[in-house]
Amino acid sequence: DKGLAVFTSGGDSQGMNAAVRACVRMAIYLGCKVYFIREGYQGMVDGGDCIQEASWSSVSSIIHRGGTIIGSARCKDFRERAGRLKAANNLVQRGITNLVVIGGDGSLTGANLFRQEWSSLLDELEKNKSITPEQKNKYNVLHIVGLVGSIDNDFCGTDMTIGTDTALHRIIEAIDAIASTAYSHQRTFIMEVMGRHCGYLALVGGLACEADFIFIPEMPPKVDWPDRLCTQLAQERSAGQRLNIVIVAEGASDREGNPITAEQVRKVIDERLKHDARITVLGHVQRGGNPSAFDRVLACRMGAEATLALMEATPESVPVVISLDGNQTVRVPLMECVERTQAVAKAMAERRWADAVKLRGRS
Ligand code: ATP
Repeated sequence: DKGLAVFTSGGDSQGMNAAVRACVRMAIYLGCKVYFIREGYQGMVDGGDCIQEASWSSVSSIIHRGGTIIGSARCKDFRERAGRLKAANNLVQRGITNLVVIGGDGSLTGANLFRQEWSSLLDELEKNKSITPEQKNKYNVLHIVGLVGSIDNDFCGTDMTIGTDTALHRIIEAIDAIASTAYSHQRTFIMEVMGRHCGYLALVGGLACEADFIFIPEMPPKVDWPDRLCTQLAQERSAGQRLNIVIVAEGASDREGNPITAEQVRKVIDERLKHDARITVLGHVQRGGNPSAFDRVLACRMGAEATLALMEATPESVPVVISLDGNQTVRVPLMECVERTQAVAKAMAERRWADAVKLRGRS
C-alpha cells in the first residue's frame, strides 16, 4: 500500500516517457498506489488535478513519444520553504512518501533538500493542523530516487543520460542531410549544436559525420584558432574534398575564455578562404522527435530500477540516482553525483578545463 509518485522536471528529453512508464508499471506490479505529478514541482506545490493516480493503461502507447506526457516546468515556489510546505501537504494527503524525480542536477538537488526537510515540514503541518499526528507518524520518512533526463550527457556518475542518444540521432540526421547539399555546391557548413558546457554531442556527432573541425568547451583552442581552422579546411579541399563541416558546441570558447560562435567561424572562413559558408543552428530539433531504441531501453531499465530502489530503501539509506555503468544499471549516491556535476560546471566557468574533464570522469 505504498504511495509512489513520478514527475519530470527541468528541461525535457526524449525517453522520459519510457522512464515514467517503467516506474509506473513496476510500482503497480509491486502493489503500490502510483501517481503522476504533472508539470514537475509546480504540480506538487499546486496539488489538485496536477496529482493524479496512474494506472497500467494510462502509460500505454507512450514509450515511443518524445518529450514528457506529464509535462515539465521550472518552479520558483519550490525553491522557497513555503512552497515545499504546500508540496509536502499535498503528498501526505495522498499517502505519497516515495518520489521518482526525472530531471537534471537542479531537480535532484531540490528533491534532496525536500527529503532533508521532510520531518520539519511535517512538524509544521501538524502544528498548523493541516495533517493529523497519525499522518505525521505514518508518513514520517520521504524516499527519493533520481533519474537523469538530459540530452547533454553532462551529469557525473552515469555513462549516458536519458535523451543523449536520440539527440545524437537528430544531429547526425541533420549533418548527413546538410552534407549532401554542401557536396553539390562545394559549401562549408557550420553547425551549432547544444550541450551547454558539455561537448559530448558536438564531439560524438562530429566523429560520426566526419566533421573537419570541432569546437568543444572542454578543449578550448588558442586564440590563433582561425589559422589552424583555415589550414585544416584548405588542406581538405586541396586533397579533393568538395565540402567542409565544422561543428561548434554552444558553450565553446578559446583559451582566454572568449566565446567562439558559429557566426565568428563563418566570417573567418568567408574572409580568409572565400568559401561559400553557411550556418545551421539545430536548436530544439535536438530535443525533439521519437526516442531511439537505446534511449527507450535505457529509460525502461532505469525506471524499473528506480522503483525497486525505492521499495528497498530504509530510513537510513542514502538517496540514489540510477545510472549506467558500462552496460549495467547501478545505484549511485545522488548528492555525490550532483556535487561533482556542479563542481564540473564551476571548473568550466573558472576556465579550469583539465580539472573539469578529470572531475567528470567517464561520463
Ligand atoms: P536542466 O538540466 O534541464 O536545466 P534541471 O533539473 O537542472 O534540468 P533546474 O531549472 O535547475 O533544471 O531545476 C528544475 C527545478 O528544480 C527548479 O525550477 C526548482 O523548482 C527545483 N530546484 C532546483 N534547484 C533547487 C534548489 N536548490 N532548491 C529547491 N528546488 C530546486
